[in-house]
Amino acid sequence: MVWRRGRLILSEESRQETTSERTARGRTHGAFRCLNCFERIVPPEKAESYKCPKCGFEWRVSWPSPTIPRIRGPVWETNRRLTDEIMAKEKGQGK
Ligand SMILES: [Zn+2]
Repeated sequence: MVWRRGRLILSEESRQETTSERTARGRTHGAFRCLNCFERIVPPEKAESYKCPKCGFEWRVSWPSPTIPRIRGPVWETNRRLTDEIMAKEKGQGK
């Protein structure tokens, strides 16, 4: 029983590895979408945070797999400053 269960877990793990390896070879390798402008961005491997090159918003990054980054949340310091700048600009233009 224990042996069978071990085999099951192993095959599950190797299947997941195959999937992430396939992802790594694909075009979406290491990419996620910026939550502000939806641009597909590629942070450097194991980066803890990454600034979107398109809109400048900065995101905290977690790595559920070595090749798959996921946004953990915004870097408030950067994003609040940017939001303030955008708001100020829009106010100025509106007048
Ligand atoms: Zn962006």
